Amino acid sequence: MSQISQLLLYQEKDSELLKLEQEVSSSDERKKFMQTQSFMKKASEKLDQLDAKSSGLLSRLETLENNYKEIAETLKDFEHIDELVEGGADLSFYQRNVAKIAESLKALKAEINALISAAKEATEEYQALKKKVIATQKQMPEIEAAYKAFKKTKQASVDAVSAELNSLAASIDPEVLRKYQAKRSERIFPIICEIRNDRCSQCGIELSIADKDKTAGGGVVECENCHRFLYRKA
Ligand SMILES: [Zn+2]
Repeated sequence: MSQISQLLLYQEKDSELLKLEQEVSSSDERKKFMQTQSFMKKASEKLDQLDAKSSGLLSRLETLENNYKEIAETLKDFEHIDELVEGGADLSFYQRNVAKIAESLKALKAEINALISAAKEATEEYQALKKKVIATQKQMPEIEAAYKAFKKTKQASVDAVSAELNSLAASIDPEVLRKYQAKRSERIFPIICEIRNDRCSQCGIELSIADKDKTAGGGVVECENCHRFLYRKA
């Protein structure tokens, strides 16, 4: 890679663009917009979950209703217990059954209570979240507009710097520029850095012997550690 001086000029100008981009990305307006978007996405997932939960509760309730019907059916056997006992039936058999039924009813009651409190909880959670979602939906256009308006305040500067970058780019080999932009998109900056005392001036790692040789002849190498392009100041 040659063209170090052009690239350094380009990078210097590019740092102005980066600063503008960072001002937008770190702005409260963008943070609020991103947070709101993320809340809406999570809330929608959560509402789906609560929906599924309530279906589960309903289906469990149906099962319990069937259990209740079965118990009621069993109880019919006891309607004529007087006659049965008078007819010489074994009373202890019926007593054991009654004890069993009482236990079943107790378990049923406990589960119904648990189900009711789970349903109440799910309903309250659903309603509270729904309320928040509706309120946020109403705020969303304003939040988005504030973010767009903030971006717009930077747009003239962004356009001016971009135009200057375009004219600087004209004197740089497109392949070199492509490599530069690839690094930039990996959030590496600055991209072209000076070698000082045989070390990368950004991360401080020492160059390999091969890289020392290569850069001594005016070449450019990539830092093994931080992957910036390194050159030796002539
Ligand atoms: Zn480095």
